[in-house]
Amino acid sequence: MKDEYLMDNFSQYHFSDNAKIITKRVPGKKSLQLLRKQKLLESNNVSYPKGIPLAFDKAKGAIITDVDGNQFIDFFSGCGVLNLGHNNQDIVADINNFNNKILQAVDFPTIIRMEFIETLLKLLPTQMKGKFRINFGGPTGSDAVETALKLARLNNNRHTIISFQGSYHGMTMGALSVTSRLSHRKKINPLIPGIHFFPYGACYRCPFELNNKECSLLCVTYFKNVLDNPHSGIDIPSAIIVEPIQGEGGTYIPPKGWLKLITTIAQERGIIVIFDEIQSGFFRTGKLFASEDFGIVPDIIALSKGIGGIGLPLSLILYKNNLDLWEPGTHIGTFRGNQMAMAAGLSAMRFIQKYNIKAHVERLEKVFLGLLNKLYEESKFIGEIRGKGMMFGIEYVKDKSSKEPFPEFAKLIRRLCYENGLLVELGGYFDNVVRFLPPLIITGQIANNGLIIFKKVNRLAEERLESIN
Ligand code: PMP
Repeated sequence: MKDEYLMDNFSQYHFSDNAKIITKRVPGKKSLQLLRKQKLLESNNVSYPKGIPLAFDKAKGAIITDVDGNQFIDFFSGCGVLNLGHNNQDIVADINNFNNKILQAVDFPTIIRMEFIETLLKLLPTQMKGKFRINFGGPTGSDAVETALKLARLNNNRHTIISFQGSYHGMTMGALSVTSRLSHRKKINPLIPGIHFFPYGACYRCPFELNNKECSLLCVTYFKNVLDNPHSGIDIPSAIIVEPIQGEGGTYIPPKGWLKLITTIAQERGIIVIFDEIQSGFFRTGKLFASEDFGIVPDIIALSKGIGGIGLPLSLILYKNNLDLWEPGTHIGTFRGNQMAMAAGLSAMRFIQKYNIKAHVERLEKVFLGLLNKLYEESKFIGEIRGKGMMFGIEYVKDKSSKEPFPEFAKLIRRLCYENGLLVELGGYFDNVVRFLPPLIITGQIANNGLIIFKKVNRLAEERLESIN
């Protein structure tokens, strides 16, 4: 690795630069105790500890420590939330100095609320400046999606919504209705009516079984054809909702031109375009929005996760001024923009403006892709590597030519990762994609150390193949 990639501008924002496993087994005794207590007291719905059985104690930057004192490199970031790292000290200091005289102000204006809004609006790409306004939702990403769907319907009085296969938009009833994963919907159906799912630009798993060279974006042709077909069986949609990069779906980055065409085709037909940038936004790919690179402006953008600075819950939608047809109180609630989370978000935006996060992300993207692509060449089971900014997907298959998904192998990788000091996320249409969402301020050194663990784990998993066959 070149020295420049090991230049650690952000090293003071992390506990250390490597993992350290000190217990004989992972999870250690103290983690097991807390996990047992949790199982006894909490809902069976608890999910992450089932895949990564650990109990955490403290964290700083990209390093997280469990209650037994083991240190892990965190490529998971609280599900892609901690863009500026765990407990980023600059943001913590700003919150401590925040000296807010009021913490709950419903949606009355406060100085911090207005500063947060003004700062975010100033960061918008040029084509959006002065044309968009903000609506805070409840605190989660799902709440932002609910708000976006309601605003779209309110504007055109239509009910049909188009979403995409492989999408994840949240778990509340409306957001779940536009989320494609069947296991999430099982036994909960019927959800809201009038939702239709179209193929995403996920070329590795093209539903038309075309390869990149011969495809000419047939999925876009199909989308346009359905919209223009008087016999499509689909009422003219109110909106389409799309992730510019699919996150939970397995880090699918659509091919060149896909998002622009889908957006233009919809907008030309008076259909509102909602971009869900909850995971791909807030600088995860270097710019405020991942969609900026695709050169298009949607009508509504949903944001959450990273905008709460250090993981405080906050969500909002940005939308074109002319869509502001809400009557006062049409979409209300108790927690519409938490003051503390706004202070953290404001501090996060200042941090990003102060340091050249974009250049750092671009440099680190090369580090990750360099090593992952090498691993792809060496591995029998990696079908594809995808990545942009600090979002990466490693898709595991039983056979590179048949592309048969290999979720058991991905699961084994996740287990061996945490046993060796690295936290990763799983996703994908078939749960066969290992995903990295490291903090944007991860240093070259920590990234490199994490990737060394990942490489070792891939070798160990191949050696243990028999245990899963
Ligand atoms: N949209 C996207 C793209 C997401 O990745 C997520 C969370 N993974 C959500 C919506 C829902 O956010 P939340 O879990 O905060 O409700």
